[in-house]
Amino acid sequence: MKISNKAGLARLLRAKQRILIVTHWSPDGDAMGSSLGLYNYLKKKGHAVTVVTPNDYPEFLHWMKGHKQVINHQQQSDKAARAVKNASLIFCLDFNDLKRISELGVLVSANPAPKVMIDHHPQPADFAQFSLHSVSASSTCELIWEFIRQLGDVKLIDAHIASCLYTGIMTDTGSFRFPSAGAQTHRIIASLIEAGAKNAEIHTAVYDDNTEDRLRLLGYALSEKLKVSHEFRTAWITLSAAEQERFRYRKGDTEGLVNYCLSIRGIRFAAFFAERDGTVKASFRSRGSFDVNQFAREHFSGGGHRNAAGGSSELDMASSVKKFTALLPRYKQQLEKP
Ligand code: 5GP
Ligand code: MN
Repeated sequence: MKISNKAGLARLLRAKQRILIVTHWSPDGDAMGSSLGLYNYLKKKGHAVTVVTPNDYPEFLHWMKGHKQVINHQQQSDKAARAVKNASLIFCLDFNDLKRISELGVLVSANPAPKVMIDHHPQPADFAQFSLHSVSASSTCELIWEFIRQLGDVKLIDAHIASCLYTGIMTDTGSFRFPSAGAQTHRIIASLIEAGAKNAEIHTAVYDDNTEDRLRLLGYALSEKLKVSHEFRTAWITLSAAEQERFRYRKGDTEGLVNYCLSIRGIRFAAFFAERDGTVKASFRSRGSFDVNQFAREHFSGGGHRNAAGGSSELDMASSVKKFTALLPRYKQQLEKP
């Protein structure tokens, strides 16, 4: 895959730009790894760079270089709005439709500055003059590596940039286990380690930083809240606001929970529903051909990838789950296919 209209973008990047980097709502390892990896690279190239996130992100990502300079739109809306308005070039990373970043997307649209979209989700909207897009890429971080390579700057990837990119590839591939992590992904990983990413330290920083509350919430969810329908090869977990409160929920605490549902023998479809800010947020995962991107788009105003997607519901928790379980018979045949 190639950067579209690369010569035009390279020309723009030859002059010093005021660059804004934005990523999706509730940024994960790939969103922050790609944003901060690109941030550190573009700063090294002499640009003025600002990262704005729609809201906050888990503490296990706070070690990345540049974290302290990130502006959170939800908490610092005026400062974020000024940064968006001031930008001469805007990068949109790990999402492909400005609707996904709600009010921040409105601000971004209002700025006529050229946009660059770098993303690996299906069905991109057409809003960017420049893009690097591939659904077969393991992660946006892998595409950032490719972006830097196509600009002829692999040598500029230092330990900080490499650590950010390593993190996003690691988290989006379930630690290099998904089919998306092929030989090329592993070659990139090798080059990131050579550039100074400390693989063992990054795994520890991201995965071994649990609070006691988080582990007890996981235990509670698995022993008390897991529901399994072998008939529809589906398993799901729900957590109300009160249940999360009981375990002093913090951002990121339920990350990965849905994967436990999918790890059950015979299960092809997994869901996790959590009450967040007055709505119900849904996470979907599947194994094999069942397309949760389509499912999330059709029934939960969401989207994502074929095997990992998310969405939300305006209904309360009980009604959301009722809607979900009532849909399962319709997909019985698809869920039986490998
Ligand atoms: P997660 O379940 O980890 O929140 O998200 C899984 C995947 O689905 C990610 O690739 C994420 O970008 C996508 N996703 C999650 N929530 C939404 C949503 O509300 N809308 C869309 N379009 N994609 C989502
Ligand atoms: Mn991603």
